[in-house]
Amino acid sequence: MARLVMKFGGTSVADIDRIRNVARHVKREVDAGHDVAVVVSAMSGKTNELVAWVKDASPHYDQREYDAVVASGEQVTSGLLAIALQQIGVPARSWQGWQLPIQTSDVHGSARILGIDGDAIVRRFQDKREVAVIAGFQGVHGATGRISTLGRGGSDTSAVAIAAAINAERCDIYTDVDGVYTTDPRVVPQAQRLDKIAYEEMLELASLGAKVMQVRSVELGMLHNVRIFVRSSFDKPEDIDPKAEPPGTLICGEEEIVEQQTVTGIAFSKDEAQISIRNVQDKPGIAAAIFGPLADNNINVDMIVQNVSADGQTTDLTFTVPAGDYERAVQVLKTSKDTIGYQRFDGATDVAKVSVIGIGMRSHAGVAAQAFKALAEKGINIRAITTSEIKFSVLIDAASTELAVRTLHSLYDLDK
Ligand code: ASP
Ligand code: MG
Repeated sequence: MARLVMKFGGTSVADIDRIRNVARHVKREVDAGHDVAVVVSAMSGKTNELVAWVKDASPHYDQREYDAVVASGEQVTSGLLAIALQQIGVPARSWQGWQLPIQTSDVHGSARILGIDGDAIVRRFQDKREVAVIAGFQGVHGATGRISTLGRGGSDTSAVAIAAAINAERCDIYTDVDGVYTTDPRVVPQAQRLDKIAYEEMLELASLGAKVMQVRSVELGMLHNVRIFVRSSFDKPEDIDPKAEPPGTLICGEEEIVEQQTVTGIAFSKDEAQISIRNVQDKPGIAAAIFGPLADNNINVDMIVQNVSADGQTTDLTFTVPAGDYERAVQVLKTSKDTIGYQRFDGATDVAKVSVIGIGMRSHAGVAAQAFKALAEKGINIRAITTSEIKFSVLIDAASTELAVRTLHSLYDLDK
């Protein structure tokens, strides 16, 4: 017997039939003797609709009322799932964020969880084996009593936080894919499902464009050591052998991973833009003069490459920003031209970032060098490179993205 959190995303609760399917998945775990807290998202498409209504009502809306509106999607599915569970004889009740409560900061629209009181649901596990169906994505700001939401995709974070709060043995994320893959199977059909992946690797994968889980939920899992299992919600509950290991990917601490590969996965993002500033003064304070104003404008700079100047006078500096922020970044640079003091800059939006990730890189030399050689053999030019302890990224022409990903996937033996 164990305590489990089961989280179901929007496609898994998209209509009443699928909610019934979810109820049978929950019953399966209850019948196996587990105490279960379920976290649900809104029905797929619902949150988008609610957001659109808010924006339609006023372009300058009150963030607190935005949260009051968009949190309602999860309220509906939590109630419906509790009803579906009761219908098949499983004791259940719904919980809204403010009822537990799930305390958050007051940054409405992207609040952070500050604390969760899990006592009430644990008591009900003990007293009547009642399933807790918790609305994901939402919480409450204690001092004002106002409803808050955690940012898009936030019910993953709700689920992991609840698992930490009730000391669950595992947090199962039921979703429309059956796990985490070595790369996007639409680009590389040979991509393999990983049995296990370390928190740090998953964090890199999620930050670099794999959309399986909200990044913050993985951070939280790593912080509290919550074992997270990503699995498919489309398997029929009746077809699952309760004694067999279900297919899926466990996100866990690296000590739990016995067979360590050097490279675990390859991520890519076409949502990048490159800016190169030519002939800037090579003197203290220049990087601050460039990146300070960008940060003030909430533009996230990612790769940064600065040359050592040949003449000790001027140098070139290249960096990347999200493609959606490119125009704004250009504006900021034009505005600060005098304080920075550069001759000109060029930009490109048809670029992509391809990243190779693996904790095994810590102890293996030459992993990146192999990639540079393989990419060169395919005629792919590298515009910029960044490295960290467990990953490296290359910036290339967007048109070569698929070729680069496939080349690296087989280079590191991920095709199997
Ligand atoms: N319903 C919210 C969203 O669509 C939260 C979630 O699904 O995780 O962003
Ligand atoms: Mg999601």
